[in-house]
Amino acid sequence: MEKKNLDWANLSFAYMKTDYRYVANYTKAAGKWDEGGLTTDDKVVMSECAGVLQYSQSVFEGLKAYTTKKGEIVCFRPDLNGQRMYDSAQRLEIPPFPVDRFVEAVKEVVKADEAWVPPYGTGATLYIRPYVFGISPVIGVKPADDYQFRILTTPVGPYFKGGAKPIYVRITDYDRAAPHGTGNIKAGLNYAMSLKAIMEAHRLGFAENIYLDAATRTKIEETGGANILFVDQDNTLVVPKSDSILPSITRRSLVYVAQHYLGMKVDERPVYFKEVKDGNFKECGLCGTAAVISPIGKINDHGTDINIASGMEKMGPWMTKLRETLLGIQEGEIEAPEGWICHIC
Ligand SMILES: *Cc1c(COP(=O)(O)O)cnc(C)c1O
Repeated sequence: MEKKNLDWANLSFAYMKTDYRYVANYTKAAGKWDEGGLTTDDKVVMSECAGVLQYSQSVFEGLKAYTTKKGEIVCFRPDLNGQRMYDSAQRLEIPPFPVDRFVEAVKEVVKADEAWVPPYGTGATLYIRPYVFGISPVIGVKPADDYQFRILTTPVGPYFKGGAKPIYVRITDYDRAAPHGTGNIKAGLNYAMSLKAIMEAHRLGFAENIYLDAATRTKIEETGGANILFVDQDNTLVVPKSDSILPSITRRSLVYVAQHYLGMKVDERPVYFKEVKDGNFKECGLCGTAAVISPIGKINDHGTDINIASGMEKMGPWMTKLRETLLGIQEGEIEAPEGWICHIC
């Protein structure tokens, strides 16, 4: 199999059409998902009144396939993406796509798009985007009758070009998720309403928004697309806990790595913004599939800077260890816990 002729190390995080995608359809008439399969057709044709277009009935996932040092193509814990998409779908009255079929579909499409999986050592990956949406017409507010599940793939470049530099973020006055709302599911609707906040933040020179809990505005939640981690003065990994935070697979994996590989104590609990202002944390970072960990050096609170001790020059020692250990596990250089690495080809 010949790889595509791309400048892998310089790809950005942008959509590029690959050869194959996976499609399955659910109809209310059949009462189940059809057998699905690969297609080269990148176009979706649907009613002008489709449920996704009128009432945003859609959920999605994001994971990556990459080449290990040994030359194998793998992905990381796709079963957890499948389960999270199943849970997200149920919250929006979308018929859930079975988790085992999700994993098989990911493998099938990555195998078909093998020529697009970046070679080892480039830092690039094949980003995999599974999604489900209401495709049949809906005008009175109700769930659609019919749905489409798709997986597209697109090669993306390394998240950090030239080292993981700490970022400067702000506390935002916008709210991301209400208690008992949809903050804990991966749905486009959570992103649509974050766009104004992120564009404002960028215009003001901040990389991201930190959202506080909507009910009391005293607790740290997460950013628009990544969970937050802290290291306190006793070297404990402190992880904000709330029902309105999206359950990041990277965060859950890092918690395991901290406990079982690095011997760190982990405290998952509500984290008050006051603790951050009081300087209780010496390191802080964002975590998600794309960057694994992105260090935070400084937080702006309505004009006042809160400096994290690890600073704006480089990632702190614990965040570095966490990131390098998880990357080592993903790349096959450190032995992975059972079931974490899914071999594709
Ligand atoms: C996807 C996402 C994350 C990160 O989850 P991973 O599974 O680690 O990629 C965090 N927060 C939000 C809001 C997300 O949508």
